[in-house]
Amino acid sequence: MKRILITGGAGFIGSHLCRRLVEENNDVICLDNFFTGSKDNIRELIGLKNFELVRHDITKEYFAEVDQIYNLACPASPPHYQYNPIKTIKTSILGTMNMLGAAKRCKATILQASTSEIYGDPKVHPQTESYWGNVNPIGVRSCYDEGKRCAETLMMDYHRQNNVDIRIIRIFNTYGPNMAKNDGRVVSNFILQALKNEDITIYGDGTQTRSFCYVDDLVDGIIKMMNNPQKFIGPVNLGNPSERSILDFAKLIIEMTGSSSKIIYKPLPQDDPVQRKPDITLAEKELGWKPTTDITTGLQKTIDYFKTKI
Ligand code: NAD
Ligand code: UDP
Repeated sequence: MKRILITGGAGFIGSHLCRRLVEENNDVICLDNFFTGSKDNIRELIGLKNFELVRHDITKEYFAEVDQIYNLACPASPPHYQYNPIKTIKTSILGTMNMLGAAKRCKATILQASTSEIYGDPKVHPQTESYWGNVNPIGVRSCYDEGKRCAETLMMDYHRQNNVDIRIIRIFNTYGPNMAKNDGRVVSNFILQALKNEDITIYGDGTQTRSFCYVDDLVDGIIKMMNNPQKFIGPVNLGNPSERSILDFAKLIIEMTGSSSKIIYKPLPQDDPVQRKPDITLAEKELGWKPTTDITTGLQKTIDYFKTKI
């Protein structure tokens, strides 16, 4: 039984990670300030003897004796991270420093949830970990992108300077149950719009691409990375390389939900990446990991989840 701290544990990905690690009989502390997370996501864990829920903001120090820290706390959808950009960057920088301080003190292994956004609007396709990215440092996405880039720097410097045992994962677009209804990302927006027969809002002309990974696959990869025996620190891409345009994605959701929704077009947000697809060769080699859930299986589970929410 390991003592594990999960920051952002009441969020979308964090809640799935909490459930898996509790089921595997670990002693889990879920820490969250509930900015975008919700107690509903972890309701069935509350009261279990190996699960503890703590309301706390990681921009402030937190002390607990643990063996592993999964640092997931950070709003992830563009509308949420742009709502209070200064808070977003504080969460990535001060929050990661606080968690690295905790890892150093406890000699814990710390895993940082980084993101494909550190590649910005990529000029290399698909994106490999060796690519340094193309990020606007002063745009509306910068609070998130640059915050996450700086968090990677902090991870590497604590590793080199203080020997902290680190893992860095770069998560690509992930979807599944427990995404918030007001999340604002494309998967939840399109599914909710389709289920309510409302207009499907495509930003731009819909030719921009994304590659969507089902959350269970991602959680497998996260846990493999944390516990990999050769102590491979990354950074490593975790995502599903199956790439599609946003227009094709909208059509697929209309078809799967049997919706009468029409597609409408809205302005493309500033600095919206044109194409994104992970190269996961490194994850396959170092972790023996690749996603196994195809898009229709994953989407069906997600659609079924949102049906219970409207
Ligand atoms: P989410 O918004 O559902 O979850 C984030 C959680 O962090 C929420 O529960 C929120 O309340 C909590 N939080 C935010 N700021 C906090 C703070 N200062 N202190 C404590 N808790 C705080 O997002 P998610 O999709 O589950 O993303 C989880 C992590 O994975 C994030 O770090 C995100 O950047 C990263 N990520 C996610 C994706 C994706 O496609 N879902 C892609 C790339 C990276
Ligand atoms: N998008 C869209 N309609 C929506 C929400 C998002 O067309 O209602 C587009 C968005 O502009 C982007 C893509 O879908 O090109 C993925 O957006 P999301 O916010 O899910 O994540 P991102 O990958 O941009 O961080």
